[in-house]
Amino acid sequence: MKRIILALLLALSVCSVLQAQELKTPSQANGFSKPSTYKELTSFVQQLDLKSDFLETEVIGQSSEQRNLYALKFSSSGFGKDPSKIKVLIFAQQHGNEQSGKEGALLLAAELVKPENHYLFDRIDLAVVPQMNPDGSEKNQRRNGHDMDLNRNHLILTEPETRAMHSFFDKYLFEVTEDVHEYSPYSEDWEKYGYRKNADITLGTTTNVNVWDKIRELSNQDAVPSILKYLNNKGYSSFVYCPGGPPGVDYIRHSTFDINDGRQSLGILNSFSFIQEGMNGEDTFADNLQKRATSQMTGMMGLLDYAYKNQISIKELVAEGRKQLLNPDYGSTVSIQMEHVPNGSKLMLPLKSYSTQADTVVEVSDYRPVVKSTLDVTRPMGYLVPASNNELINWLDSQAIIHSKYLASGKASIEQYKITKIDSLDFERDIIINPVVESRIITLEDPSSYIFVPVNQLKGNMIIIALEPKSELGLVTYKQFEDLLKPGLPFPVLRLDKQ
Ligand SMILES: [Zn+2]
Repeated sequence: MKRIILALLLALSVCSVLQAQELKTPSQANGFSKPSTYKELTSFVQQLDLKSDFLETEVIGQSSEQRNLYALKFSSSGFGKDPSKIKVLIFAQQHGNEQSGKEGALLLAAELVKPENHYLFDRIDLAVVPQMNPDGSEKNQRRNGHDMDLNRNHLILTEPETRAMHSFFDKYLFEVTEDVHEYSPYSEDWEKYGYRKNADITLGTTTNVNVWDKIRELSNQDAVPSILKYLNNKGYSSFVYCPGGPPGVDYIRHSTFDINDGRQSLGILNSFSFIQEGMNGEDTFADNLQKRATSQMTGMMGLLDYAYKNQISIKELVAEGRKQLLNPDYGSTVSIQMEHVPNGSKLMLPLKSYSTQADTVVEVSDYRPVVKSTLDVTRPMGYLVPASNNELINWLDSQAIIHSKYLASGKASIEQYKITKIDSLDFERDIIINPVVESRIITLEDPSSYIFVPVNQLKGNMIIIALEPKSELGLVTYKQFEDLLKPGLPFPVLRLDKQ
């Protein structure tokens, strides 16, 4: 009898030791010698879910090769149920050969189940999607199982991974989002230049001029510097996200203003939206994995720290910004072509010398930090899309854009573009099409063959950018939609306005 009790007590205490033990991520458990596989990630997520009352796991969709996409939802009050909480979404590894975003997200999840971090959930409901592209990850390749770049797919949404992400976003309407990537500093250009970028983490935010100014201002001028400082205080080097260069070869700018990536596609809905890029390993796989993973995790913690401290001001700005999208001013304009321009300031860029291995700072003269509109259109009441155009109707549905049968009204003025010829323009160093158009007011012969797409909805600015024929970020710049532009013929999508 005594012996049985002793055995029981022993078993209980082993149990509680196990309970208190930290759960290690798969990569942590193998000493960061290799990234976590999809199978290891799945089992880790399940163990973590069992361990924590704060965590609930949702499968938000499947990849093109039918692997699960997991969202780890942390909340102390039932996810998305308390309207006073700030909703934060972090998603990683859209690019399968950028392994540290996933590893950082798993380390973050393991940290967040510790009691000392539970205070964050007094103010935050957090969802973490550690792996957006499991198919690419298994092969350590950038693209998904359909050979598509997911981070250029957020407007056309042809891929199951991006569709899953946007319907998950639409369900909760997160106020803060972060898309986690890696950059590789080891290109030939830079080696020839003699220096390379060397920051453990770079952080960028929205630049598209259609994102409400006040949101861009607070993100660029306060959030980014605060999070970079948080990283420095924890011993990681950090710098503002700035692609381009090397100096003298190409200009340096901040984020793209295209809305087809993880950051701007959510930013255009007036969210606080960020891109975090860690520095990839020299082998683009397991090299330096521990530091890469911990620096990514620390950057994500920095974002949570910022959201926690600025919960009220961020929530107010996002609510106001989204109200403007729902009740837009019809006289106002939307930019459909933009460019990166200098503003006289010089960039002091921290670099590492190839010859001496020393850190240095280089002054960049061709630095273009400001995005300015080069072509605006006035905001219509909405668009008329031919009901027979399946490609467009499917697109409206995959974006969950509100639309209805068009009920003709004598009070509407309908504007049609005619494509006179197709020119080209330089968009962030890519040559893309730029149609020349004429416009005229028409009377519709068969109004019932059209679908009405109002622009007074959350995706209103996105709709305008997508549907205007001269938009350099529009649907017509994608292969799937190039048939919309035929020289000499009218553009099939019509603008509708009050008379
Ligand atoms: Zn990437």
